[in-house]
Amino acid sequence: MAIKAEYIWIDGTEPTPQLRSKTKVISDDSGTDLADMPIWGFDGSSTNQATGDKSDCVLKPARVFPDPIRGGENVLVMCEVMLVDGKAHPTNTRAAAARTAKKYKKHEPMFGIEQEYTMLKPNGNPLGFPDDGFPAPQGPYYCGVGEIAITGRNIAEDHMDACLAAGVTISGINAEVMPGQWEFQVGPVGLLEVSDELWIGRYLLHRIAEDYGVVISIDAKPVKGDWNGAGAHTNFSTKEMREDGGIKYIEAGCKALGQRAAVHIASYGDGVEDRLTGAHETQRHDQFSYGVSDRGASIRIPWQVAVDKKGYLEDRRPNGNIDPYVVARLMVDTICGAMK
Ligand code: ADP
Ligand code: MN
Ligand code: MN
Ligand code: MN
Repeated sequence: MAIKAEYIWIDGTEPTPQLRSKTKVISDDSGTDLADMPIWGFDGSSTNQATGDKSDCVLKPARVFPDPIRGGENVLVMCEVMLVDGKAHPTNTRAAAARTAKKYKKHEPMFGIEQEYTMLKPNGNPLGFPDDGFPAPQGPYYCGVGEIAITGRNIAEDHMDACLAAGVTISGINAEVMPGQWEFQVGPVGLLEVSDELWIGRYLLHRIAEDYGVVISIDAKPVKGDWNGAGAHTNFSTKEMREDGGIKYIEAGCKALGQRAAVHIASYGDGVEDRLTGAHETQRHDQFSYGVSDRGASIRIPWQVAVDKKGYLEDRRPNGNIDPYVVARLMVDTICGAMK
């Protein structure tokens, strides 16, 4: 049997890049390790990554996962987009993330990202929203159970199983504050791992939702008004933070993030100003604060971390629609760059 390799990459859609993929059938004599995966290409003029007269872009395999959708020997291949001269394409944010991961390797940065997302009906309304009007106000939905409060659980469950089968380090799922909104968490793993796995997790979610006739949105504020937005809280630690007495490194990390707050906000996803309003468990986008247990702060130090005096911090600012290669790289550059 031939092997189907699904080559997956991130396109040039503005302001929020999207996933693309296509299938390469390879001989079953070939192995399925990264080194066995051939370089491939695509038409960049159809993905906002090239002009028609110089349309060829290159797909360079970066990481291989078992394909839980097709099963068998089939694989998912997360790729970097390259120019034909061998340089990273301007839309390739993984290349810079790889440089930062290497530079600060000795601090052993680890991430857990909480991906919030919204399931939409074909008419664009979230699942659980009536065709006209609104459902009952927020309150019963977060971590809820029961038909009235909860829709879309089958998709979230199928997605969790698919992540586990693919080797994505999923650490949990939960129903979120707005009807039709869910979350999955990836981590804790390293900078490149969390980013590759979050993109693959998103791919699997879109792919599974197709079969249910549901559209997945990672938009930061899918419903205007008194409804929670979708974030991608980014939990971060270094080796020093995880060791006894690491709280002083966690506080130093919070201060370093405060020094570069504007730089971070600018890369924390399209529409971040609409989501970080100061309401709905957010700090305003133009203010910076950190605190223990504080879900209205930019950065939260979890209660247990304050008790243990070691652990990690949670950057609550990133939107659901972030590029994790960019956000995780910035956090390492800022926090590890400020460490002596
Ligand atoms: P909450 O919803 O209360 O903010 P979650 O349980 O959804 O928290 O997410 C917590 C995240 O923190 C998980 O993704 C987990 O992998 C991550 N995490 C736990 N320990 C660490 C650590 N030492 N460094 C980085 N991330 C961590
Ligand atoms: Mn969470
Ligand atoms: Mn959440
Ligand atoms: Mn959180």
